Amino acid sequence: MLDIVTLGDEVLRQKAAVVGDIDGSIAKLAENMIRTMQEAPGIGLAAPQVGVLKRMFVCQIEGDKPRVFINPEIIGTSEERGVFEEGCLSIPGIYADVLRPDEISIQAWNERGRPFTLNAGGLLARVIQHEYDHLQGVLFLDHLNQKKSERLEKQYYKSLRA
Ligand SMILES: [Zn+2]
Repeated sequence: MLDIVTLGDEVLRQKAAVVGDIDGSIAKLAENMIRTMQEAPGIGLAAPQVGVLKRMFVCQIEGDKPRVFINPEIIGTSEERGVFEEGCLSIPGIYADVLRPDEISIQAWNERGRPFTLNAGGLLARVIQHEYDHLQGVLFLDHLNQKKSERLEKQYYKSLRA
């Protein structure tokens, strides 16, 4: 199990760096991230959330296999957008409706160093966009209006003192 960093840690606000060689250590990191996500439990986890500033994330929605995305690029998004309630393992207990494209296309490498392209919709598209944001230092709160985002941030810090 890896430690998951939470809101307030600067690492969540930094940009992750491109992964050079997809070697055994990266495959091991991916495996540990998958285990950490499953045990949390959560449906997605990005490397910065475990304090590693590398462009990679993992996700697994119900009924699907665990998926690993290394050096991902979202290469297309649908015009259609929808609202869905999101949460984040780095901001436990806080949830909010976020507007995002319904469908995306993403290009990435897997943990064996193989490139792939994936077209995703529904919950998978949602999780991928949320995790992809983490690589830019962006949190789901940033998609809300400032007032709402500040209120939820306050609510989160208050919950820590309770
Ligand atoms: Zn998150």
